[in-house]
Amino acid sequence: MNSSSSEILKLLVVDDDDVDRMALRRALKGTGLSFELEEVDSAQSGTTLLGTKPFDCAFLDYQLPDCDGLTLVQNLRDAGVKIPLIALTGQGSEETAVGLMKAGASDYLPKSKLSSETLSRSIQSTTRLYKAEQEIDLTNQRLREKNELLKRQNEELQRQREQIQRKNLQLVEVSQLKSEFLATMSHELRTPLNAIIGFSQILMRQLKDSASDRQLDMIRRVLTNGHHLLELISDILDLSKIEAGRLDLTVESINLKELILTTVEGLQSLAEQKQLDLKVTADLANTQIANDSNRLRQVITNLLSNAIKFTDEGFVSITAREISSDTIEIVVADSGIGIAAESVPHIFNAFHQVDQSISRKHQGTGLGLSITHLLLEMMQGHISVKSQVDQGSQFYVQIPRCVQPPHGGAIAPK
Ligand code: ADP
Repeated sequence: MNSSSSEILKLLVVDDDDVDRMALRRALKGTGLSFELEEVDSAQSGTTLLGTKPFDCAFLDYQLPDCDGLTLVQNLRDAGVKIPLIALTGQGSEETAVGLMKAGASDYLPKSKLSSETLSRSIQSTTRLYKAEQEIDLTNQRLREKNELLKRQNEELQRQREQIQRKNLQLVEVSQLKSEFLATMSHELRTPLNAIIGFSQILMRQLKDSASDRQLDMIRRVLTNGHHLLELISDILDLSKIEAGRLDLTVESINLKELILTTVEGLQSLAEQKQLDLKVTADLANTQIANDSNRLRQVITNLLSNAIKFTDEGFVSITAREISSDTIEIVVADSGIGIAAESVPHIFNAFHQVDQSISRKHQGTGLGLSITHLLLEMMQGHISVKSQVDQGSQFYVQIPRCVQPPHGGAIAPK
Protein backbone atom coordinates (compact mmCIF):
# COMPACT_ATOMS: atom_id res chain seq x y z
CA MET A 1 0.00 0.00 0.00
CA ASN A 2 1.25 3.42 -0.82
CA SER A 3 0.08 6.46 1.08
CA SER A 4 0.88 8.93 -1.71
CA SER A 5 -1.90 11.43 -2.45
CA SER A 6 -2.79 9.67 -5.74
CA GLU A 7 -3.85 6.49 -3.91
CA ILE A 8 -7.21 6.25 -2.25
CA LEU A 9 -6.91 4.94 1.28
CA LYS A 10 -9.73 2.73 2.54
CA LEU A 11 -10.32 3.73 6.12
CA LEU A 12 -12.70 2.39 8.76
CA VAL A 13 -13.87 4.14 11.90
CA VAL A 14 -15.35 2.14 14.78
CA ASP A 15 -16.88 4.68 17.17
CA ASP A 16 -20.32 5.02 18.67
CA ASP A 17 -20.05 8.75 19.27
CA ASP A 18 -21.40 10.86 16.36
CA VAL A 19 -19.56 13.97 17.47
CA ASP A 20 -16.22 12.17 17.73
CA ARG A 21 -16.73 10.63 14.31
CA MET A 22 -17.47 14.06 12.83
CA ALA A 23 -14.32 15.47 14.43
CA LEU A 24 -12.30 12.62 12.94
CA ARG A 25 -13.85 13.17 9.49
CA ARG A 26 -12.98 16.83 9.64
CA ALA A 27 -9.42 16.18 10.74
CA LEU A 28 -9.02 13.54 8.02
CA LYS A 29 -10.15 15.99 5.35
CA GLY A 30 -7.51 18.41 6.55
CA THR A 31 -4.73 15.87 5.96
CA GLY A 32 -4.95 16.24 2.18
CA LEU A 33 -4.92 12.41 1.84
CA SER A 34 -7.35 10.76 -0.61
CA PHE A 35 -9.52 8.32 1.27
CA GLU A 36 -12.79 6.45 1.40
CA LEU A 37 -14.26 6.25 4.84
CA GLU A 38 -16.64 3.67 6.30
CA GLU A 39 -18.12 4.17 9.73
CA VAL A 40 -19.62 1.68 12.20
CA ASP A 41 -20.64 2.18 15.81
CA SER A 42 -19.88 -1.15 17.49
CA ALA A 43 -16.99 -3.57 17.96
CA GLN A 44 -19.16 -6.37 16.55
CA SER A 45 -19.86 -4.63 13.21
CA GLY A 46 -16.27 -3.36 13.03
CA THR A 47 -14.95 -6.91 13.45
CA THR A 48 -17.34 -8.24 10.78
CA LEU A 49 -16.39 -5.54 8.30
CA LEU A 50 -12.65 -6.01 8.86
CA GLY A 51 -13.12 -9.73 8.29
CA THR A 52 -14.88 -9.27 4.96
CA LYS A 53 -13.47 -6.14 3.29
CA PRO A 54 -9.95 -4.92 2.65
CA PHE A 55 -8.98 -1.77 4.55
CA ASP A 56 -5.73 0.14 4.70
CA CYS A 57 -6.21 1.41 8.26
CA ALA A 58 -8.81 1.36 11.06
CA PHE A 59 -9.54 3.81 13.89
CA LEU A 60 -10.91 2.17 17.00
CA ASP A 61 -12.62 4.05 19.80
CA TYR A 62 -11.35 2.96 23.18
CA GLN A 63 -14.80 2.97 24.78
CA LEU A 64 -17.30 1.07 22.66
CA PRO A 65 -20.69 -0.05 23.95
CA ASP A 66 -20.09 -3.77 23.37
CA CYS A 67 -16.36 -3.99 24.07
CA ASP A 68 -13.42 -1.99 25.31
CA GLY A 69 -10.76 -0.94 22.80
CA LEU A 70 -8.05 -3.08 24.34
CA THR A 71 -10.03 -6.32 24.00
CA LEU A 72 -11.12 -5.34 20.50
CA VAL A 73 -7.49 -4.78 19.38
CA GLN A 74 -6.48 -8.07 20.93
CA ASN A 75 -9.38 -9.99 19.30
CA LEU A 76 -8.70 -8.46 15.91
CA ARG A 77 -5.01 -9.32 16.05
CA ASP A 78 -5.87 -12.84 17.20
CA ALA A 79 -8.21 -13.15 14.23
CA GLY A 80 -5.29 -12.33 11.92
CA VAL A 81 -6.10 -8.70 11.11
CA LYS A 82 -2.75 -7.16 10.23
CA ILE A 83 -3.58 -3.66 8.97
CA PRO A 84 -2.66 -0.62 11.12
CA LEU A 85 -5.10 -0.24 14.03
CA ILE A 86 -5.04 3.26 15.53
CA ALA A 87 -6.75 3.53 18.92
CA LEU A 88 -8.58 6.73 19.74
CA THR A 89 -8.52 7.28 23.49
CA GLY A 90 -10.56 9.63 25.63
CA GLN A 91 -8.87 10.80 28.81
CA GLY A 92 -6.37 7.96 28.30
CA SER A 93 -3.65 7.49 30.80
CA GLU A 94 -0.09 6.39 29.98
CA GLU A 95 -1.02 2.94 31.25
CA THR A 96 -3.91 2.59 28.79
CA ALA A 97 -1.61 3.56 25.96
CA VAL A 98 1.01 0.98 26.93
CA GLY A 99 -1.73 -1.68 27.28
CA LEU A 100 -3.09 -0.85 23.85
CA MET A 101 0.32 -1.05 22.17
CA LYS A 102 1.02 -4.33 23.94
CA ALA A 103 -2.28 -5.73 22.72
CA GLY A 104 -1.24 -4.95 19.14
CA ALA A 105 -2.38 -1.38 18.40
CA SER A 106 -0.19 0.32 15.82
CA ASP A 107 -0.62 3.76 17.42
CA TYR A 108 -2.91 5.61 19.77
CA LEU A 109 -4.22 9.18 19.57
CA PRO A 110 -5.94 11.02 22.42
CA LYS A 111 -9.18 12.47 21.02
CA SER A 112 -8.41 15.77 22.70
CA LYS A 113 -5.27 16.17 20.60
CA LEU A 114 -6.78 15.02 17.29
CA SER A 115 -5.53 17.24 14.48
CA SER A 116 -4.93 16.82 10.77
CA GLU A 117 -1.16 16.82 11.40
CA THR A 118 -1.20 14.17 14.10
CA LEU A 119 -3.60 12.06 12.07
CA SER A 120 -1.58 12.41 8.88
CA ARG A 121 1.62 11.53 10.70
CA SER A 122 0.09 8.52 12.39
CA ILE A 123 -1.54 7.18 9.20
CA GLN A 124 1.66 7.65 7.20
CA SER A 125 3.98 6.05 9.74
CA THR A 126 1.73 3.11 10.62
CA THR A 127 0.93 2.30 7.00
CA ARG A 128 4.61 2.57 6.10
CA LEU A 129 5.47 0.21 8.93
CA TYR A 130 2.68 -2.13 7.87
CA LYS A 131 4.01 -2.13 4.32
CA ALA A 132 7.53 -2.90 5.52
CA GLU A 133 6.17 -5.73 7.69
CA GLN A 134 4.28 -7.13 4.73
CA GLU A 135 7.45 -7.05 2.62
CA ILE A 136 9.36 -8.83 5.37
CA ASP A 137 6.57 -11.40 5.57
CA LEU A 138 6.73 -11.88 1.83
CA THR A 139 10.53 -12.18 1.86
CA ASN A 140 10.31 -14.64 4.73
CA GLN A 141 7.71 -16.63 2.88
CA ARG A 142 9.94 -16.75 -0.22
CA LEU A 143 12.91 -17.76 1.90
CA ARG A 144 10.86 -20.52 3.48
CA GLU A 145 9.82 -21.74 0.03
CA LYS A 146 13.41 -21.59 -1.22
CA ASN A 147 14.54 -23.43 1.89
CA GLU A 148 11.92 -26.07 1.35
CA LEU A 149 13.01 -26.46 -2.27
CA LEU A 150 16.69 -26.70 -1.27
CA LYS A 151 15.78 -29.26 1.37
CA ARG A 152 13.93 -31.34 -1.21
CA GLN A 153 16.83 -31.02 -3.70
CA ASN A 154 19.28 -31.97 -0.96
CA GLU A 155 17.24 -35.02 -0.10
CA GLU A 156 17.12 -35.97 -3.78
CA LEU A 157 20.91 -35.52 -4.08
CA GLN A 158 21.44 -37.58 -0.95
CA ARG A 159 19.22 -40.31 -2.42
CA GLN A 160 21.17 -40.24 -5.68
CA ARG A 161 24.50 -40.30 -3.79
CA GLU A 162 23.40 -43.35 -1.84
CA GLN A 163 22.27 -45.01 -5.05
CA ILE A 164 25.64 -44.29 -6.71
CA GLN A 165 27.46 -45.60 -3.64
CA ARG A 166 25.39 -48.79 -3.74
CA LYS A 167 26.04 -49.19 -7.47
CA ASN A 168 29.75 -48.51 -6.93
CA LEU A 169 29.91 -51.15 -4.27
CA GLN A 170 28.18 -53.62 -6.56
CA LEU A 171 30.60 -52.75 -9.36
CA VAL A 172 33.60 -53.23 -7.09
CA GLU A 173 32.21 -56.59 -6.00
CA VAL A 174 31.53 -57.68 -9.57
CA SER A 175 34.96 -56.50 -10.70
CA GLN A 176 36.61 -58.36 -7.83
CA LEU A 177 34.64 -61.49 -8.65
CA LYS A 178 35.66 -61.17 -12.29
CA SER A 179 39.32 -60.77 -11.35
CA GLU A 180 39.18 -63.69 -8.96
CA PHE A 181 37.43 -65.84 -11.57
CA LEU A 182 40.04 -64.93 -14.18
CA ALA A 183 42.91 -65.58 -11.79
CA THR A 184 41.56 -69.03 -10.89
CA MET A 185 40.69 -69.92 -14.46
CA SER A 186 44.07 -68.80 -15.78
CA HIS A 187 45.81 -70.88 -13.17
CA GLU A 188 43.69 -73.93 -14.01
CA LEU A 189 44.35 -73.47 -17.74
CA ARG A 190 48.08 -73.18 -17.33
CA THR A 191 48.58 -76.68 -15.96
CA PRO A 192 47.16 -78.62 -18.95
CA LEU A 193 48.71 -76.12 -21.34
CA ASN A 194 52.15 -76.70 -19.88
CA ALA A 195 51.57 -80.41 -20.42
CA ILE A 196 50.65 -79.77 -24.08
CA ILE A 197 53.78 -77.66 -24.58
CA GLY A 198 56.01 -80.12 -22.72
CA PHE A 199 54.72 -83.18 -24.57
CA SER A 200 54.92 -81.54 -27.99
CA GLN A 201 58.53 -80.56 -27.23
CA ILE A 202 59.30 -84.20 -26.36
CA LEU A 203 57.49 -85.42 -29.49
CA MET A 204 59.42 -82.94 -31.58
CA ARG A 205 62.72 -84.13 -30.18
CA GLN A 206 61.89 -87.85 -30.43
CA LEU A 207 60.38 -87.76 -33.92
CA LYS A 208 62.90 -85.32 -35.37
CA ASP A 209 64.39 -87.98 -37.66
CA SER A 210 61.48 -90.35 -38.20
CA ALA A 211 58.48 -88.03 -38.76
CA SER A 212 57.61 -86.46 -42.11
CA ASP A 213 58.01 -82.68 -42.64
CA ARG A 214 54.23 -82.32 -42.55
CA GLN A 215 54.01 -84.10 -39.20
CA LEU A 216 56.87 -82.03 -37.76
CA ASP A 217 55.20 -78.86 -39.01
CA MET A 218 51.99 -79.85 -37.22
CA ILE A 219 53.86 -80.43 -33.95
CA ARG A 220 55.63 -77.09 -34.41
CA ARG A 221 52.27 -75.38 -34.79
CA VAL A 222 50.94 -77.02 -31.63
CA LEU A 223 54.04 -75.73 -29.86
CA THR A 224 53.84 -72.15 -31.22
CA ASN A 225 50.11 -71.87 -30.51
CA GLY A 226 50.64 -73.39 -27.07
CA HIS A 227 53.28 -70.75 -26.32
CA HIS A 228 51.01 -68.00 -27.57
CA LEU A 229 48.13 -69.25 -25.44
CA LEU A 230 50.42 -69.48 -22.42
CA GLU A 231 51.51 -65.89 -22.98
CA LEU A 232 47.88 -64.80 -23.14
CA ILE A 233 47.00 -66.70 -19.98
CA SER A 234 50.01 -65.28 -18.13
CA ASP A 235 48.96 -61.78 -19.14
CA ILE A 236 45.37 -62.36 -18.03
CA LEU A 237 46.62 -63.83 -14.77
CA ASP A 238 48.88 -60.80 -14.18
CA LEU A 239 46.16 -58.32 -15.03
CA SER A 240 43.55 -59.96 -12.85
CA LYS A 241 46.01 -60.33 -9.99
CA ILE A 242 46.88 -56.62 -10.16
CA GLU A 243 43.21 -55.66 -10.39
CA ALA A 244 42.30 -57.90 -7.47
CA GLY A 245 45.14 -56.34 -5.46
CA ARG A 246 46.81 -59.73 -5.19
CA LEU A 247 50.08 -58.90 -6.87
CA ASP A 248 52.92 -57.80 -4.62
CA LEU A 249 56.22 -56.32 -5.70
CA THR A 250 59.33 -57.98 -4.30
CA VAL A 251 61.56 -54.97 -3.98
CA GLU A 252 65.27 -55.67 -3.90
CA SER A 253 68.48 -53.89 -4.76
CA ILE A 254 69.30 -54.35 -8.47
CA ASN A 255 71.79 -53.15 -11.05
CA LEU A 256 69.64 -51.44 -13.67
CA LYS A 257 72.33 -51.46 -16.37
CA GLU A 258 72.78 -55.22 -16.03
CA LEU A 259 69.05 -55.78 -16.03
CA ILE A 260 68.66 -53.78 -19.25
CA LEU A 261 71.60 -55.55 -20.94
CA THR A 262 70.36 -59.06 -20.09
CA THR A 263 66.81 -58.19 -21.17
CA VAL A 264 68.08 -56.80 -24.48
CA GLU A 265 70.20 -59.91 -24.96
CA GLY A 266 67.09 -62.06 -24.69
CA LEU A 267 65.41 -60.10 -27.46
CA GLN A 268 68.46 -59.74 -29.70
CA SER A 269 67.51 -62.70 -31.90
CA LEU A 270 64.05 -61.20 -32.58
CA ALA A 271 65.66 -57.93 -33.67
CA GLU A 272 68.18 -59.78 -35.80
CA GLN A 273 65.44 -61.74 -37.58
CA LYS A 274 64.11 -58.39 -38.79
CA GLN A 275 67.56 -56.91 -39.30
CA LEU A 276 66.89 -54.11 -36.85
CA ASP A 277 69.60 -52.13 -35.16
CA LEU A 278 69.04 -52.66 -31.39
CA LYS A 279 70.81 -49.88 -29.49
CA VAL A 280 71.37 -49.64 -25.73
CA THR A 281 72.50 -46.56 -23.82
CA ALA A 282 72.71 -46.72 -20.05
CA ASP A 283 73.85 -43.28 -19.10
CA LEU A 284 73.88 -43.74 -15.34
CA ALA A 285 76.21 -42.29 -12.75
CA ASN A 286 74.79 -44.77 -10.25
CA THR A 287 73.43 -48.01 -11.69
CA GLN A 288 71.93 -49.32 -8.44
CA ILE A 289 68.20 -49.02 -7.91
CA ALA A 290 65.58 -50.64 -5.68
CA ASN A 291 62.77 -52.35 -7.57
CA ASP A 292 61.22 -55.74 -8.35
CA SER A 293 63.65 -57.14 -10.93
CA ASN A 294 61.19 -59.60 -12.53
CA ARG A 295 58.47 -57.00 -12.87
CA LEU A 296 60.81 -54.29 -14.15
CA ARG A 297 62.20 -56.80 -16.67
CA GLN A 298 58.60 -57.52 -17.71
CA VAL A 299 58.00 -53.78 -18.30
CA ILE A 300 61.15 -53.41 -20.41
CA THR A 301 60.47 -56.66 -22.30
CA ASN A 302 56.91 -55.53 -23.12
CA LEU A 303 58.09 -52.19 -24.47
CA LEU A 304 61.05 -53.62 -26.39
CA SER A 305 59.13 -56.54 -27.91
CA ASN A 306 56.38 -54.14 -29.01
CA ALA A 307 59.02 -51.85 -30.55
CA ILE A 308 60.53 -54.79 -32.44
CA LYS A 309 57.11 -56.16 -33.41
CA PHE A 310 55.88 -52.86 -34.85
CA THR A 311 59.12 -51.93 -36.65
CA ASP A 312 60.00 -53.40 -40.04
CA GLU A 313 63.19 -51.48 -40.71
CA GLY A 314 65.51 -49.10 -38.96
CA PHE A 315 66.19 -49.23 -35.26
CA VAL A 316 64.91 -49.99 -31.80
CA SER A 317 66.64 -48.30 -28.88
CA ILE A 318 66.57 -48.24 -25.12
CA THR A 319 68.10 -45.43 -23.10
CA ALA A 320 68.31 -45.14 -19.33
CA ARG A 321 69.31 -41.94 -17.58
CA GLU A 322 68.97 -40.12 -14.28
CA ILE A 323 66.65 -37.14 -14.64
CA SER A 324 67.11 -36.25 -10.99
CA SER A 325 68.94 -37.78 -8.05
CA ASP A 326 65.94 -39.98 -7.25
CA THR A 327 64.19 -40.42 -10.62
CA ILE A 328 65.24 -42.69 -13.47
CA GLU A 329 63.93 -42.37 -17.00
CA ILE A 330 63.93 -45.27 -19.46
CA VAL A 331 63.05 -44.43 -23.07
CA VAL A 332 62.20 -47.15 -25.58
CA ALA A 333 62.14 -45.74 -29.11
CA ASP A 334 61.67 -47.24 -32.56
CA SER A 335 61.45 -46.23 -36.21
CA GLY A 336 58.33 -48.34 -36.75
CA ILE A 337 54.74 -47.89 -37.88
CA GLY A 338 53.89 -45.37 -35.15
CA ILE A 339 50.51 -44.83 -33.50
CA ALA A 340 47.79 -42.47 -34.79
CA ALA A 341 47.07 -39.57 -32.41
CA GLU A 342 43.45 -40.71 -31.90
CA SER A 343 44.62 -44.18 -30.79
CA VAL A 344 47.24 -43.00 -28.30
CA PRO A 345 44.78 -42.43 -25.40
CA HIS A 346 43.51 -46.02 -25.71
CA ILE A 347 46.65 -48.12 -26.04
CA PHE A 348 47.00 -48.55 -22.26
CA ASN A 349 43.48 -50.02 -22.02
CA ALA A 350 43.24 -53.78 -21.63
CA PHE A 351 42.73 -55.67 -24.90
CA HIS A 352 43.10 -52.53 -26.99
CA GLN A 353 44.94 -52.98 -30.25
CA VAL A 354 45.17 -50.25 -32.85
CA ASP A 355 44.72 -52.78 -35.65
CA GLN A 356 41.51 -54.61 -34.74
CA SER A 357 41.12 -56.42 -38.06
CA ILE A 358 40.95 -60.23 -38.13
CA SER A 359 43.70 -60.27 -40.72
CA ARG A 360 46.01 -58.15 -38.57
CA LYS A 361 49.66 -58.60 -39.20
CA HIS A 362 51.00 -58.49 -35.65
CA GLN A 363 50.38 -61.09 -32.99
CA GLY A 364 49.62 -60.03 -29.46
CA THR A 365 47.12 -60.09 -26.63
CA GLY A 366 46.49 -56.37 -26.31
CA LEU A 367 47.32 -56.67 -22.61
CA GLY A 368 51.04 -55.83 -22.55
CA LEU A 369 50.71 -52.06 -22.23
CA SER A 370 47.88 -52.15 -19.71
CA ILE A 371 49.92 -54.50 -17.51
CA THR A 372 52.98 -52.27 -18.02
CA HIS A 373 50.95 -49.23 -17.01
CA LEU A 374 49.55 -50.93 -13.88
CA LEU A 375 52.95 -52.30 -12.88
CA LEU A 376 54.48 -48.83 -13.22
CA GLU A 377 51.71 -47.41 -11.06
CA MET A 378 52.58 -49.98 -8.40
CA MET A 379 56.21 -48.84 -8.72
CA GLN A 380 55.11 -45.24 -8.08
CA GLY A 381 56.17 -44.61 -11.67
CA HIS A 382 54.67 -43.26 -14.82
CA ILE A 383 54.56 -43.99 -18.55
CA SER A 384 53.87 -41.67 -21.49
CA VAL A 385 54.18 -41.94 -25.24
CA LYS A 386 55.05 -39.77 -28.23
CA SER A 387 54.43 -41.20 -31.65
CA GLN A 388 54.01 -40.32 -35.28
CA VAL A 389 52.54 -42.60 -37.90
CA ASP A 390 55.24 -44.11 -40.17
CA GLN A 391 57.95 -42.28 -38.19
CA GLY A 392 58.11 -44.30 -34.99
CA SER A 393 57.24 -44.17 -31.29
CA GLN A 394 58.95 -43.27 -28.05
CA PHE A 395 57.71 -44.64 -24.72
CA TYR A 396 58.94 -42.70 -21.67
CA VAL A 397 59.03 -44.56 -18.37
CA GLN A 398 59.83 -42.75 -15.15
CA ILE A 399 60.44 -44.63 -11.93
CA PRO A 400 61.80 -43.63 -8.55
CA ARG A 401 65.33 -44.86 -7.89
CA CYS A 402 63.99 -46.53 -4.76
CA VAL A 403 60.55 -48.06 -5.11
CA GLN A 404 58.78 -48.27 -1.78
CA PRO A 405 57.84 -51.88 -1.01
CA PRO A 406 54.04 -52.28 -0.79
CA HIS A 407 54.09 -53.05 2.94
CA GLY A 408 56.52 -50.37 4.09
CA GLY A 409 60.18 -50.75 5.04
CA ALA A 410 62.24 -48.85 2.48
CA ILE A 411 65.01 -50.66 0.63
CA ALA A 412 68.10 -48.71 -0.31
CA PRO A 413 70.15 -49.71 -3.33
CA LYS A 414 73.52 -51.17 -2.33
P1 ADP B 1 49.83 -56.12 -28.07
O1 ADP B 1 49.80 -57.46 -27.43
O2 ADP B 1 48.85 -55.97 -29.17
O3 ADP B 1 51.20 -55.66 -28.40
P2 ADP B 1 49.94 -53.98 -26.13
O4 ADP B 1 49.05 -53.67 -24.99
O5 ADP B 1 51.36 -54.24 -25.84
O6 ADP B 1 49.26 -55.17 -26.91
O7 ADP B 1 49.84 -52.78 -27.14
C1 ADP B 1 48.58 -52.27 -27.52
C2 ADP B 1 48.62 -51.68 -28.92
O8 ADP B 1 49.41 -50.49 -28.92
C3 ADP B 1 49.25 -52.58 -29.94
O9 ADP B 1 48.35 -53.53 -30.45
C4 ADP B 1 49.67 -51.57 -30.99
O10 ADP B 1 48.56 -51.22 -31.79
C5 ADP B 1 50.05 -50.34 -30.16
N1 ADP B 1 51.51 -50.28 -29.92
C6 ADP B 1 52.18 -50.60 -28.80
N2 ADP B 1 53.51 -50.36 -28.93
C7 ADP B 1 53.69 -49.89 -30.17
C8 ADP B 1 54.83 -49.45 -30.93
N3 ADP B 1 56.06 -49.46 -30.42
N4 ADP B 1 54.62 -49.01 -32.19
C9 ADP B 1 53.39 -48.99 -32.72
N5 ADP B 1 52.27 -49.38 -32.07
C10 ADP B 1 52.40 -49.82 -30.83
